[in-house]
Amino acid sequence: MKTIGYAAHSADSAMVPYHFERRALRPNDVAIEILYCGVCHSDLHTVNGDWGPQPYPLVPGHEIVGVVQSVGPDVKRYKVGDRVAVGCMVDSCQHCDQCHHGEEQYCRNGMTPTYGAPDRIDSTTTQGGYSKHIVVREEFVLQIPDNMDMAKAAPILCAGITTYSPLRTWNVTKGSRVGVIGLGGLGHMAVKLAHAMGAEVTVISRSDSKKADAMAMGAKGILASTDAAAMKAAGSSFDLIIDTAPVKHDVSLYTPLLDIDGTLVVVGQVGPLAELMSVPLVFGRRRVAGSLIGGIAETQEVLNFCAEHNVYPDCEMIRMDQINDAFDRLAKGDLAHRFVIDMSSLNAG
Ligand SMILES: [Zn+2]
Ligand SMILES: [Zn+2]
Repeated sequence: MKTIGYAAHSADSAMVPYHFERRALRPNDVAIEILYCGVCHSDLHTVNGDWGPQPYPLVPGHEIVGVVQSVGPDVKRYKVGDRVAVGCMVDSCQHCDQCHHGEEQYCRNGMTPTYGAPDRIDSTTTQGGYSKHIVVREEFVLQIPDNMDMAKAAPILCAGITTYSPLRTWNVTKGSRVGVIGLGGLGHMAVKLAHAMGAEVTVISRSDSKKADAMAMGAKGILASTDAAAMKAAGSSFDLIIDTAPVKHDVSLYTPLLDIDGTLVVVGQVGPLAELMSVPLVFGRRRVAGSLIGGIAETQEVLNFCAEHNVYPDCEMIRMDQINDAFDRLAKGDLAHRFVIDMSSLNAG
């Protein structure tokens, strides 16, 4: 199947239109016409080569929403016209213990990311959602709930599940005290989801300049990490901190904010952190942990949760040809919302 997308051809080149082929349908494949694709910070990191060399040309995008265009003969769950989504993974081994209990992101044999990785069967490079079409095996296709606004759903597929999964893993419920470090794409979803679960949410940010945004999303307040007196007063007051800071930083500034047995979960930075101070960990059985996206079943769960609780990311719709400007703005950081590409702006010609 011929399609068109936007690709990077090297680490330092701009994104440009790119004609390429999607594979012919295998028996268990679903072909999807993409309507919207979110712009994740990791798209930018990946095409820039920040996380190592890439198999260019590369079409990024792993927050994909669209409609089923055709299905292979063995597909059971989907039919032409269904509203569907694809997130950060498109395959895994399907037979290890992690795959069996629905945590394909931790597949013992390595999951297949939506873009920039070899396909498990034919070894061609997977290409992501900045394109008109995608072909994915049905086990990795999600269902968009009937009452969900498709135009706003895309960021749930990465930013949503990345923050929902640790909130569930650490049993956040009514009255849980949750801190969220950073109020960007991930952070703003963490605030909304934790609030919808009934938690008391505090945004932890360098200054309190985003207080109004944070409160509008459901936070009860903002804690300025540069205010030493406020940080001291907030000691031992959180059950869980979701740390979305996407750069090297010092988590030991935040661990004293955890109560005894509290956990700080890193979901933003993939790489080095500042040297870890053990004192707050030892004197309080506090933990520093990490978490990667979520399994397919849990991704369906967060879509359903968002539909049920009317939780939506704050989206700024862009045209496909605005992607280079969007990357520039993303690189400068501090956007409390997500860019979403309206794929109807990409002409097939
Ligand atoms: Zn992402
Ligand atoms: Zn597996």
